[in-house]
Amino acid sequence: MTMSPVIYIQGALATTSLIIAIIFFMAWRTLGEKPWALNWSVAFVASTLYWLINLGSVFFPGHASYWLLANAFGVATVTLALRGHCQRTKCERLPDNLWPYAILVFAGILWTTVVRPHAGLSAAILPLVTAISLLLSAAMVIRHREQTRVAEWASAITMILFAIVQLPAAAYVYGLGPDKDVVTGLMYSHPSVLLLPAGFIGMAIFVIFMLASDVYEDMKEIAVRDQLTGLLNRRGFGEQSVVAYATARRTVQPVSVIAADIDHFKSVNDEFGHNIGDRALVHFTQLLTADRRVEDIVARIGGEEFLLVLPGTDLIEALAIADELRERLAASPMGVDERKVVMTSSFGVAAISDKDASLADVVIKADRALYRSKRAGRNRVDLESSQTLRNLDGSLETN
Ligand code: GH3
Ligand code: MG
Ligand code: MG
Repeated sequence: MTMSPVIYIQGALATTSLIIAIIFFMAWRTLGEKPWALNWSVAFVASTLYWLINLGSVFFPGHASYWLLANAFGVATVTLALRGHCQRTKCERLPDNLWPYAILVFAGILWTTVVRPHAGLSAAILPLVTAISLLLSAAMVIRHREQTRVAEWASAITMILFAIVQLPAAAYVYGLGPDKDVVTGLMYSHPSVLLLPAGFIGMAIFVIFMLASDVYEDMKEIAVRDQLTGLLNRRGFGEQSVVAYATARRTVQPVSVIAADIDHFKSVNDEFGHNIGDRALVHFTQLLTADRRVEDIVARIGGEEFLLVLPGTDLIEALAIADELRERLAASPMGVDERKVVMTSSFGVAAISDKDASLADVVIKADRALYRSKRAGRNRVDLESSQTLRNLDGSLETN
């Protein structure tokens, strides 16, 4: 038989698949062991076998066993790839177990190969199912979060383009009729031959790009979050407060800052140990975050020091909120076995004024107010001396 270029393309796709499988395996190992990366690695192993066994059916035309085995791996590739996208996007629409559907698809190929042979139809099933699953994956990638990332757009668009190539390919092989040797036709139409290797590699690279961008986003999130409490850290607070300040200025809304520092926290550590101290910080965090609005910012900017930014909240409202937090903390000690960790906190409150050039200026005022509260005996809510609210320069009981 003549060596058709199809053989070279299939051989090249087999080696490429193997390399991509190895890359995905490495991506799985080095980019946080995300299960979907491993899924895609296995998918490309299946795809390597698909192309290799296809080669076999080129050399031994008419052997249904090669055809069926290759298609089994083809269906496995599609199933694993789809499952990977579903895992990554936490899709809920698709069933967890896609294998029964995979078996159905394979049964269709078996039927059209052995029971009622129709070479064209049998060859059309896999590209058709591939196209459908690529479109499903693209939809999941684009729709699973409000703001689709650049890497996700790139990945989804390549999948859609690949699907668009697969559809006419399916129609083409189906059009070859029931009797033709479709193995050569398997490489479909001319556009498919041209685009298959590029599309195949392109899809894999964009998916890896997407994995890398996931890691980058995770890292960015870790960089702005405090691990213990999950609150924003000082850096995250800095970033968010710039936005809050700009919004407050643009909308001519008030914005208040509450600074909190747990009283004598050292003694909690001394008495109960560092682990319980940690839990006490989480306990306080829960109080601080309960009943917050979405636009509020809560941050842990130091050991037992916290900041709250309350957009749209004026000084009087902020004082009331701080005092409620103070009362709640004092009234809800954390249980440790039979013992109770009683904690109080001091609070300083400040609101934005015309003079403040950034939220940092308001934070400085809130910190000064907090310092006053500490000096005046702790477990109090105070204002900074420059704040003009009369009668509130002491405890909130005057309110
Ligand atoms: P004051 O009322 O003046 O605020 O007294 P304080 O003891 O709370 O203040 P100080 O700043 O002297 O001590 C803070 C303590 O917080 C010291 C440190 O051991 C503890 N701390 C800081 N970060 C952590 C943490 O992540 N976990 C635990 N368990 N303790 C922490
Ligand atoms: Mg303290
Ligand atoms: Mg402190």
